[in-house]
Amino acid sequence: MERTVEWSSAVKEVYRLMKYHVWTEGCQMNVADSQRLESAFEKFGLENTPRAADADVIVLNTCVVRQSAEDKAYSYLQSLRPIKDKRPETVIGLMGCLVGIKNNGKLRERFPWVDVFAPPSDPAPVVDFLRQREGLAIERVEVEQRFAAQDNEIVLPLHQRGKLVAAHVPVVLGCSHACAFCIIPFRRGVERSRSVDEIMTEARSLVAQGVKEITLLGQIVDRYGYDLKSQTPALATSASAGASVSNFKFQNETPLVDVLRLLNEVEGLERIRFLTSHPNWMTDELLDAVADLPKVCEHIEAPAQAGDDEVLERMKRGYTADDYRRLVERIRHKLPNGSIATDIIVGFPGETVAQFQATHNLLAELKLDVAHIAKYSPRPQTVAQRTMPDDVPPEEKERRRKAIEDLQERVVGEINARLLDQTVQVLVDGDHKGKWRGRTRTNKLVFFEDPRADWRGKLANVHITWAGPWSMQGVIAADAPAASG
Ligand code: SAM
Repeated sequence: MERTVEWSSAVKEVYRLMKYHVWTEGCQMNVADSQRLESAFEKFGLENTPRAADADVIVLNTCVVRQSAEDKAYSYLQSLRPIKDKRPETVIGLMGCLVGIKNNGKLRERFPWVDVFAPPSDPAPVVDFLRQREGLAIERVEVEQRFAAQDNEIVLPLHQRGKLVAAHVPVVLGCSHACAFCIIPFRRGVERSRSVDEIMTEARSLVAQGVKEITLLGQIVDRYGYDLKSQTPALATSASAGASVSNFKFQNETPLVDVLRLLNEVEGLERIRFLTSHPNWMTDELLDAVADLPKVCEHIEAPAQAGDDEVLERMKRGYTADDYRRLVERIRHKLPNGSIATDIIVGFPGETVAQFQATHNLLAELKLDVAHIAKYSPRPQTVAQRTMPDDVPPEEKERRRKAIEDLQERVVGEINARLLDQTVQVLVDGDHKGKWRGRTRTNKLVFFEDPRADWRGKLANVHITWAGPWSMQGVIAADAPAASG
C-alpha cells in the first residue's frame, strides 16, 4: 500500500535544526531507497550534512551482494561507536540488505549502539523511530500516513533538488528467480511490481523537480507487470507490503513496454533507461520499443554471469552460453547502434580453469561494451553457500578477474575508438575537475570543457577528440548533428 505523508509544522519545528547523514552502499535500488529516506528526513525539516560526525541522525543503507560490501558496512558501523559514546542522543539507523526482510536479533546484539533497523526499501522504521522519539510533540502532529519506501510523491532532498539530472525509479521490488549465488530474494522478498499509476506519479514528480533522465529498476526489470496482469481481485486486496494493486489495462504483451510508452510522453523528460534485464525475459516487443521510442536509450544491461553451460546450470541461471549469444545477436539486430553491458562472476564454486576460459572466450567473441566483474563470494542462505564449497582460491579469483578486466580494456578501447571524430549526444549530469560530465545514449562517459556555459541538465552535441576504454573527451559541436554513440 503506497501512502504519502505530510509532516506538521510541529514536527518540522522539533527537527528544524537537526542534521542527517545517509551513507549508501550498493546497487541503484539502494541509491533510490536512500533518496526516499532523505526525502522523508527533509519533510521532517532535517538538513543534509556530508559528515557523519556532524549529524544528529546517521543511517547506513547497506548492501550484502558481496562480502566486501558487507565488511565495509561492519567497519563503518564500528566507526560510529565513538560518536554514539560521545553523543548518546545521536540516532543511528541501519537499513538495507544487511538487515534483510526479517528483523535481525543478532545484529542488535552485535551493534547495541544502533537505535533502529530497517529492511530494504522500507525507511518506515527509521521515520517511525524519529517520530516516536519526540513523544508527545510528535503525537500531536497530523501524521496520518506512514512514509513508505515508494512514497508516490517523492520530494528530492533539498541538496539534490534542481541539481539531480538522472534519477532511479524502482518498478519491480524483490526477486523470485533464486539464482544459486544471489542473496537478493532472501533480503528483498518475492518479486512484486509497482502499479503504473505509482510509477508515473513518481516519474512526473521527479521531472517537475528537474530530473531529465529516469532509469527504471528491477532485479529482472523485463518481468515488470506480469504479476499485475495476472492479479485476481482477491489477490490484489491482500497484496503484501510494497506490492501494488493495479487497475491499469496493459496494451502490450510485455507490460514494461506500456510504462516506456507512457514515460516517453512525459514533457521535460529527455531520456529513459531500464535495468537489469534477464536474458530469458528480453522480448522482441521490448527491443522494438527501445528502437521506436525516441527517449528510450539504446543500452541494454543483461548479465551473462558465465560462459560455460555447466557453471550456468549450477548457478541456476536458466540459459546456456549459446542462448546468450543469440540474445546479443537479437539485441544487435534490433539496436544496431546500441550498447550492451553484462555482469560476470568469476570463481564460482567448482569453476575450472577451462570453464573460466569459456567465459573469457565468450566475452572475447561478443565484444560487449561493459562487463561488471565480481569475484564470487558466498552469501548466507543461498543454494551455492549451503551446498557448494567455495573452492577457487582468492588469488586465482583475482587472476580471473584481472584477465577479464584486461580483455575488456582492449575490447572497449577498440569500440570507443570508433567514436573518435564523431559527434555524440551527451546528457550533462554535472561537472568534474573543471569539465562538464555526461553520458551518451549508450551510457558512455564523456567530458568536455566549456567554462562559459551552464550545461547541467542539458543535451550537448560533443565532438569526440580522445577515446579511452573507460571515458572519452571532446569539444562542443553546437551545429553538428549528434551521431549515435
Ligand atoms: N538481478 C540481476 C541478475 O542477476 O540478473 C543482477 C542484480 S545483482 C544485485 C548484481 C550483480 O552482483 C549480479 O549480476 C552478479 O554478477 C553479482 N553478484 C550477485 N551475487 C554475487 C555473489 N554471491 N558473489 C559475487 N557476485 C555476485
